[in-house]
Amino acid sequence: MNAHVSPAGAASSHAGPTRVVLIGYGPVGARFVEELLPSVASGAVALTVLGAEAHDAYNRVLVGEYAVGRAARERLDVIDTAAARAAGVDVRLGEAVVGIDRSRQVVRTHHDTRVPYDRLVFATGARANVPTLAGLERTTRHRLARAATAAELDRGERALPTGVVALRDLDDAETVRAAVAGRKRIVVLGAGVLGMEAALAASEQGAEVVVVHHGDVPMERNLDHGAGRLLARAARAGGTETLPHSRAEEVLFRHGERGERVFEALQCADGKQVPGDLLVLSCGVAPRIELAASCDLAIERGVLVDEELRSWTDPAVFAIGDCAQVAARGSAGPDGRVGGGPAGLIGPGWRQADALAARLGAEAIGGDPAGVPFAEERPAVVMLKAEGVDVVSGGDVSADPFDEPEASGAEPGHAAGCAVHGVSAREVTVWADPAHGAYAKMVTRGGVLEGFVAVGMPRTGAELTLLFERGNELPADRSVLLRLDSDDAGVVSTTDPFAPDATVCWCNGVSVERITDAAAAGDRTVECVGRSTRAGTGCGSCKGRITELIARTPEAAPAVPVA
Ligand SMILES: Cc1cc2nc3c(=O)[nH]c(=O)nc-3n(C[C@H](O)[C@H](O)[C@H](O)COP(=O)(O)OP(=O)(O)OC[C@H]3O[C@@H](n4cnc5c(N)ncnc54)[C@H](O)[C@@H]3O)c2cc1C
Repeated sequence: MNAHVSPAGAASSHAGPTRVVLIGYGPVGARFVEELLPSVASGAVALTVLGAEAHDAYNRVLVGEYAVGRAARERLDVIDTAAARAAGVDVRLGEAVVGIDRSRQVVRTHHDTRVPYDRLVFATGARANVPTLAGLERTTRHRLARAATAAELDRGERALPTGVVALRDLDDAETVRAAVAGRKRIVVLGAGVLGMEAALAASEQGAEVVVVHHGDVPMERNLDHGAGRLLARAARAGGTETLPHSRAEEVLFRHGERGERVFEALQCADGKQVPGDLLVLSCGVAPRIELAASCDLAIERGVLVDEELRSWTDPAVFAIGDCAQVAARGSAGPDGRVGGGPAGLIGPGWRQADALAARLGAEAIGGDPAGVPFAEERPAVVMLKAEGVDVVSGGDVSADPFDEPEASGAEPGHAAGCAVHGVSAREVTVWADPAHGAYAKMVTRGGVLEGFVAVGMPRTGAELTLLFERGNELPADRSVLLRLDSDDAGVVSTTDPFAPDATVCWCNGVSVERITDAAAAGDRTVECVGRSTRAGTGCGSCKGRITELIARTPEAAPAVPVA
């Protein structure tokens, strides 16, 4: 018997467990499965997972590290699928959902099997954009075109030609891995954070790399001009060439041994040709929303869900991760557009998976899901995963120190925290030492960071990250922050990076306190701490801090039995 779903979204009683169907077995789907396991094991939930990829779920964040040979395949494991199956989860790999009948509450897979649900969860993630370039015609997927098979999920009418890849999944990584191992010449199109990470890592492993981008500096969405120029300079020093102001127009090919088209060069609008053996497209991602659109769920940039992660359209449907756009119902503007979009980061996706699993688990046993907290939103901080180049930024860093005063009436040069008509003036502090590869910018209002960037200043960057996260006021003398990276032993952090509530692992939201508790209880390696707290299991950029925390924490003495 199918469950009936009331408008309020409560599953009505039907014999047996609540049937939850999860579409997508990426890292966010995997986290959802893991968190829902107790409800499956107790018999309250019957969970079916339909994943288009033939592999077990893996940590996509580390695909770039794997592609350059810096991470072993096992490091990408995020879940023990065999254990999930043993606990009763029906995991079907290599099976794509191609249709949804919401009135009957059934999904259809490309094997033409039907799976009924009481609760349907979209974790379909995002796909890499393929730019519109001559030579790549019909490889671009229309954003609302549905796939008929799992293999076609991200393909346009045509597959990408040989030697052209978008670094998103394990198969892409294998292609890049072969090129890096063979020290080939790699052309990266796009200088966003993922493009730069791939480029820097590949050249560090010995490949010849050139990054083609149309902006002025790399990572233009996250960095200002000064920080971007320093990054370009650091990249060049590490062997990665960047070609700014280069608008790619065409992909040129040669004939391969079987007559197939093989990448030869990228043709730019200014006439230059950039030759290479492999073209890596790094031109952003687009949430996979075509399936949601096909069954008339509200979509915009992602599947529109409210703070409970419930579809705006159907109370039995939810979305998490890279496909989910969380927005308050009715928040569309006069033009019908809804602001924001999916975060495109693992941390928010994992928090959503935790929150939704708790909510559905509570609901399945007739508990009160109202008591389950929402997925907590944290300010997004972007850290470049690169060896030897420290880049971190958060918020809006576009303001210039010499910008005209804002329309609020604020005047330049106002002291921090000084209110003008109730609105504090914005202040911009910049420190640039290009000769030593150091740069920092702080954009504050009322002394609190609205945006920041730090290049080549790891301690300052860490401090600013904490201040940004907490919304703390900066010291009036900003130079204190800048001197954290100096040899001046007298300069101390204002935030106490070892304060119990300081976040260490941004991907999993793990605090100093949880790590030191684990270390005191006997977790003496980063891997052990990762197993018990999940810290360091996302992008891994916090592993150094975890090591430091373990070293600072004495192991608790074992309890002595009372005679
Ligand atoms: C190279 C690289 C580096 C990154 N680095 C970072 C980083 O440092 N920090 C960070 O926070 N984030 C990073 N990210 C982004 C991060 O990987 C994503 O935020 C994360 O993967 C989102 O997880 P997800 O499960 O929502 O979606 P995805 O990982 O996209 O997984 C979705 C899954 O759903 C499956 N699927 C889709 N449609 C269907 C269907 N119809 N039927 C069945 N299955 C379907 C797909 O095959 C896929 O397996 C990086 C991404 C890449 C590619």
